[in-house]
Parts: sequence; C-alpha cells; structure tokens
Amino acid sequence: MALKKYVYTFEEGDGKNKRLLGGKGANLCEMTQIGIPVPPGFVITTEACVEFLERKKKELWPNHMEEIREGIKYLEKKTGKGFGNPKDPLLVSVRSGAAISMPGMMDTILNLGLNNEVVKGLAGLTKNERFAYDSYRRFIQLFGNIALQVEEEKFTSIFDEIKEKYGAKLDTDLDTKALKEVCKRFNELIKKETGKDFPSDPYEQLYLAVKAVFNSWMGKRAVDYRREFKITPDMANGTAVNICTMVFGNMGEDSATGVAFTRNPATGENRLFGEYLVNAQGEDVVAGIRTPKPIKELRKEMPSVYRELEKLRHTLEGHFKEVQDFEFTIERGKLYCLQTRNAKMNAAAFIKTSIDMVNEGLIVEEEAILRIQPDMLVQLLHPQLDPKHLKEPLAKGLPASPGAASGKIVFDADRAEVKAKLGEKVILVREETKPEDIHGFFASQGVLTSRGGKTSHAAVVARSMGKPCVCGCEDLKIDYEKKEASVGEVALREGDLITIDGSTGNVYLGVIPTIEPEFMEDLLVLLEWADEIARLKVRANADTPDAAMKAKKYGAVGIGLCRTERMFNQQDRLPIVQEMILADTEEERKKALEKLLPFQKNDFREIFRIMEGLPVSIRLLDPPIHEFLPSEDEILHEINQLKKLKERVEAIEGLPETLKLLDPELYNRYSANLESMGHALEELKDKHLAESLVREKEAMLEKVRALSEINPMLGHRGVRLGITYPEIYKMQIRAIFEAAAETLKEGKDVAPEIMVPQVCTLQELKWVYGYVEEVHRDVKKRYGINVPFKFGTMIEVVRACMRAGRLAELAEFMSFGTNDLTQATFSFSREDAENKFLPLYNEKGILQHNPFEVLDVKGVGRLMMITVEWARKTRPDMKIGICGEHGGDPYSIRFCNYVGLDYVSCSPPRVPIARLAAAHARLTEKEYDPFKV
Ligand code: PEP
Ligand code: MG
Repeated sequence: MALKKYVYTFEEGDGKNKRLLGGKGANLCEMTQIGIPVPPGFVITTEACVEFLERKKKELWPNHMEEIREGIKYLEKKTGKGFGNPKDPLLVSVRSGAAISMPGMMDTILNLGLNNEVVKGLAGLTKNERFAYDSYRRFIQLFGNIALQVEEEKFTSIFDEIKEKYGAKLDTDLDTKALKEVCKRFNELIKKETGKDFPSDPYEQLYLAVKAVFNSWMGKRAVDYRREFKITPDMANGTAVNICTMVFGNMGEDSATGVAFTRNPATGENRLFGEYLVNAQGEDVVAGIRTPKPIKELRKEMPSVYRELEKLRHTLEGHFKEVQDFEFTIERGKLYCLQTRNAKMNAAAFIKTSIDMVNEGLIVEEEAILRIQPDMLVQLLHPQLDPKHLKEPLAKGLPASPGAASGKIVFDADRAEVKAKLGEKVILVREETKPEDIHGFFASQGVLTSRGGKTSHAAVVARSMGKPCVCGCEDLKIDYEKKEASVGEVALREGDLITIDGSTGNVYLGVIPTIEPEFMEDLLVLLEWADEIARLKVRANADTPDAAMKAKKYGAVGIGLCRTERMFNQQDRLPIVQEMILADTEEERKKALEKLLPFQKNDFREIFRIMEGLPVSIRLLDPPIHEFLPSEDEILHEINQLKKLKERVEAIEGLPETLKLLDPELYNRYSANLESMGHALEELKDKHLAESLVREKEAMLEKVRALSEINPMLGHRGVRLGITYPEIYKMQIRAIFEAAAETLKEGKDVAPEIMVPQVCTLQELKWVYGYVEEVHRDVKKRYGINVPFKFGTMIEVVRACMRAGRLAELAEFMSFGTNDLTQATFSFSREDAENKFLPLYNEKGILQHNPFEVLDVKGVGRLMMITVEWARKTRPDMKIGICGEHGGDPYSIRFCNYVGLDYVSCSPPRVPIARLAAAHARLTEKEYDPFKV
C-alpha cells in the first residue's frame, strides 16, 4: 500500500482542498500555481495534525523526518540556499493555517534555521549585520516562547532593559551591538529556563516548531474561538503547517512589510487599502508595536512596487472572486505575497462589495448572496451615537470597527470577563491586544487601544465580531499596575464610564445615548435578490402593534406567531387577568374576560391594519395561568409586610400615653396634633384596610398554591387550559373575529390564522374548533361579515408529530414550536438546561451545539420530517412553518428548507438574516445532507 502523503509543495498542492491543506496553505498553492510571486514552500497537512493530537505520545507520523527533509531539499533546490548553511542560509517561516481562518489564534514562528553560526553567515552575506541579529533575536524569542514555553514577558523585559540601557525609543533605534547583546541574553534566558542550550540544529528546530504549531490547535484561545464561532470538526479539523522560505522586509530602507486589502474592509470602497512599515517584519504590523503608514504613502516612497501591488490586487480578486486580505513583503525592492485570504469585513462593507462586484461583472447575484454570512447582518442593527447628545470627545483614535458602545473601563481581558458575568457592560482598554485577550473581546461592548493601526489585532478581531473598536488612540496613557489611564489632565480609572465610536474614532467621557441605524439601500437590493431565490418565506414573531411594524419594516411577509399572553402581561391588563384567574365562579370569570376583550380586540385590529392582509397567526393562550400571579414567596412576603404595618399602627396608637408619662411638657405642646392623629388612626382601623388586603393576599396565596404544579411546562397549559376554561379561548377567538370584521369594514384585507398550542390529539383540536365555529357564527350574525380565517395547530409535543396525519384532517396549517419540541425530544428542561449542564455538554463535545439555539436536525429534525410527510399525505397543500427560536437561525433554516417547510418565523430584527439564510439554503441544497455522520 502506498504511504499516505503528509507533505505537499506549493507547486503540487490542490488549492481547492482547504480541508487538507488549510486555508492559508491551499491559497499559497493556488497563488504559486497562477504565477503570483510567493516564496517557495510546502504544507504539512491537517491530517498529520489530527493524527499527532490523537497519538498518546504526541509524536509526528512515522516517516515524518524523511518527508520533511524532502520538503527542505526542494526549498534548497528552488532557492539555491542551504538549511543551516552559514555561507548561504535558507531560513523558513512555520505558520499555522486551518480550513477556516482563525486569525491570530494559533502559533507562527519566523526566521527558523538561525543559530549562533548561521547568523554570522547571514550577516556577512547580506552585508547587513544589524539585520541578521535583528532576525535572530526575533527568532529566539518566538521559538523560545512557542516551542520551548518560556514566558514572553521574560523576553520583553530583557528587551526593554536593553532599550533603556542604549537610550533607544523604538526597536529600530537599537544598533548591532545592542541586538547582539539581546541575542546573548535571550540564549542565556533559555538555558536558565529550560536547562538546555537553545537547539542549534535547524532540523530539530523545525521538528519542535511543527509540533508546537500542531499543539496550538488545542490551545485555549483557539478552542475558545472555535466555540464562539461555532466552528465544528466537520468545518475545520486540525491545523496545517506552512513552511515557507523567509523573505525579509527588514533588510533596509528599500525593504518593507505590510498588510493590505483589495478593497476597504470598513466601507467596501473599491480601492487598495492597507498599511506598511519600512524596514520591518510582518509581526510588527500585526502586533501594533509600531504605528504603520497608510498604503497610499507607498506610492510616493516606492512607486514601482506600488504599481505591482495594484496589479496584484486585481489578479487576486480576479482569481478568488472575493475581496482579499493579503500580506506582503518587499525585500530590497522585490514584492512577495506571503498569504492571502478572504477578507473579514463588517456587514456594510460585505454588502457594498457584493453589489459592486456584481455590477463590475466579477461575480453573479447568487455568488454575491452566498459570500455574506447571514448572521453578519446582526451588525447592521448596531446602534449609532445620537447626534443630539454629542459632545466634545475626550480623545481621538483610528476608527477601526464601526458602531458605538458605552461601558465601564476595564484594563484586562480577565477583568472584562468577570465583570461581564456580573452583568456589567464594559469597554476593554489596552495599549494593544493579543490573541490571548480573545475572551475579553467576547465579554466587552467594545475595544479601545492606545497603539496600533487599523490592521492591528484589536481592529481585525473587533471587526470580525462586529464590535466597535477605536485603536491607536495615542493620547491615552495606560498604567496597568495602577489600573489607571490618562488623557492629558483627565484621569480614568477602572469602572469609569466611557463611550467609544468606532465609526469616527472618537472617545467620550460618560455614556452617550445611541440610536438605531437606518436600513441601508444596498441591503434592500441584496435582500430582494435573496427573496427571488429563496423558496422559504420569512414571517416574524410579533406580539404587539409595535413589533408588527418592525416586522413589516424588515420585510416579513406575515406574522408566524403572535403570543397573546404578552398582551395579558401589560400593566393595564394584568390586574384584570388576575381578577379572571381569582374568580370563584364562571360568571365572575366571564365578567373579567369581558373587560379584557376590548384590549385584545384593539391589539389585533392594530396588527391586522399594519399587516394589510398578510397572514397573522395568533396563538391562543399558552402558559400556565399561575404565571400571571405573583409567586408564593412574593405573596407571603407581602402578607408579612402588611401584618407588620398593622402592628406599627397599633404601636403609634399608644404614643400619646407614652409621651404623657415620659415628658408631660412635650405632650402638652403637641396634644392637639396627637389627638387628631389618634382620630386618623381610628378611622384607618375602622376601614380594616390592612385586614382586607391581607385577606385578598391570602385568597391569592390559596389560588397560587392550588394552581402550583411540579412540572408546569408539562402541565396545565396550552389547549388543556382552553378546554378546562373554555371562556378564555372563546374571548380570544371573539377578539380575533371581531377585530377582523371591523378591519374588513374599513376596507382593509385580513388573513387571521387561529393557532392552538400544545396539542397532542385530534380530539383536542376538535374541541377548540367547536368554539371557533360557535363564535364565528355569532360574529357573522352581528357584523354581517363572513370573516375568512384558517385554523391550525402548533406542533410542539412528540405525540402531535406521530399523529400529524390525523391532526391534518382538521388543521389547515401547522407550525413547529421547536422550543417545546426540543424540550420534549431531549427531556431537557428549557428553563434550566442552559444554566446547568448544557455548557459542559458543549465544552466536552457531547453535544456540538446548544439544541435550544441550533436545531438538532438528527433528533428533532427527524421528527419534523416525519410530521411533514404524514401531514401532507392527509392534506397535500398543508402550510407548514416553524416559530421556535430556531426559525431565525441560519443553520436551522437550512434544514427547514430541506424538509420543505413553507415559512420560518423569527423575531423582527432577525428577519433580514432569515431572508438571506433562506436564499443560502436554496442555493446550497444540493450539497446539503443533514444526516451525514
Ligand atoms: C415553541 O415552543 O417553540 C414556541 C414558539 O412556543 P413558546 O416558546 O412560546 O413556548
Ligand atoms: Mg411552545
């Protein structure tokens, strides 16, 4: 059997196989093969990584050294240099790269191959001793930290010490002598920390570096990142390692390094965008250690290279059909492209570039839609600062990621996490951020840094998360020790409130109110394209006229779920609802319901008017009625308070006598007042207010106890409630029909749908249908209008799935309530699971997702499939939708498209996301197999 191949040169790797070669490796192969100047290199596959991590002894594959040596020989042949040869040394970079880009989350080592001898050779050969030792010190630090686990701070403190000793402000101010001293001190540090000399054999260096990069796949920040962005093993499994010939941007004033985008990633503008540093290496730009220059200055500084960069930008976009984010190095005037990947941009830039690229003929509409991940649109709902409340900014930095946010200052990522867990809004304020700060990004409302450009780590990560970021705010001086910062005279402490505006770069003291953004013109165009492609329709879950208005604005084509209980909960109605629940007789209950009717009717009428004839699915009352009453503890507390109040009144009654005894003079002075107070207390007592309130509370307590259930979510709720208290459902049905009749009278169309929750048998549906017929007849008689309507059921009980064929005899539509259906399928309480064991289940990989967020297609989905099939056997034109939380989740929407639902319904702001996801689902349905193991 032929041995499995783990190493591919850039000339032979299949650029389409990102799973095997990682995104970076595959693109390097692709670029090499289309003639872009990429330094020679090879890729070690992700399979090698997965197998390495699985091996108990953490060893590379059996013949790894032979294959790696082969790879190096290939590089030697291509470059004419020798690995470890001081006369003409080959140096390599060792970079991670998974199938899905995880910027900065894994490790990279540069300048590998240097040692005490090779560095001298390099110095002689380049006639640039400073460059050689600068490269060497960078290598020892990176390698020492990543492969030998020596703490980074130990290197930086030596480096800072030497900078101070030589009076150097910038790294570039250090001369050769100082850099040699740095190298010597670094080598000593490694010996001290590891007990061994720094490995001088380049192959040993390479071997350790490859293992370190593989290990970084399981490093905390990489694991956190994958969890946050829901990157599952079937999307990316293990990292590849790219071993690439080093080229140097730190070879003098004709050398440089930079990061560029083929278009502006913040605005989408079609113009080369980026930053560069002369005489520097890539990490200097990314880490934000020196603030780089905007790319347009390169046009003056190195005009011919700038022209080449322009050419490169067009070649990259023409080939990858996507905005690219690429790294380049200029070594003594020659341009090299070191990596390219699809640019991470904010949603606004994605949308603009989608429309532009279609107009430029670079891509077609379908591609324009597919390149935008639906969840990204969340960012467009980002608040902006309210111009009415703008004031003088405290400081200004670079606008690195748009949107505005306010919060309390925290100076490190761990504090951000702790504070956020306590429910506080925080802004992470740092000199610069590093990949290990990722949890601080998740926890913060926004990020502010004092150093670094728009492609610094902070900027890139914040943009990809859609969080506001201001970076390079150089007036901000931070003292981490004291947990303080200052801007001029103004001192800022941890916990102080600030506001940042990532669209302008402004930083303000205090909180500035924000306003909702307006829908973009470009997004409307894109969503229209999406609607033309999608088969699934998108409705909204909306319970109030306000929400219905939003639903319309976001393009919902109906309401998929109007939860009527939300109307009951409003302040002016709750006392009436409670009166209805506390009623002892049916008569009393009906009286209370009579009072509720106009409220419900008004709401429905408003909603019908807004929706102008679009379908509105109204769900009859669902939750257990005790939810409208206070809890037992609350009532007991109130009763106690009332009793205490009564005792206090009694105590005050005795006050005149006490005073007379203790201080007759004082008593005489106030006797008239005391007497009138006595009368007031008498009157109060006569009213027996406290007693009657206590009695009321006790009656409520009794009711609460009577209604209490061990498992309320599986208890007296939904249709069961409707059958035991028919008058409640009848009132609601009347409110729907009368509102519809009145709206029709105004000359407006209506399409009400009456939806029954928690149904498990056809008998239940029949029972409720009886009320519907009765009320419908009555409304017809009184209004002279035959209100059109549909009658249907929620599917949220497993038995309903199994009896879908029977339910379909009466139900004209069905809507999956996947919140309850997930609860029922897993037997996980939806109220508790997410706070108890689910996070651990996700962390340990027992479940890949939280099933209450992302539909469990293999379990709940199967049930849905069966339901759809059986329901449509009985009623082929059965309209079926989904209104659980999953209706707004793109991954779940894909499944809904697959099983042939007619619509999904989600909260209004998720409607644009669902519209785009529905188009994605349609466009990718051929390659979709939800049950793949
Ligand atoms: C559901 O169960 O999915 C549903 C939409 O109903 P609720 O969340 O109100 O129980
Ligand atoms: Mg439900």
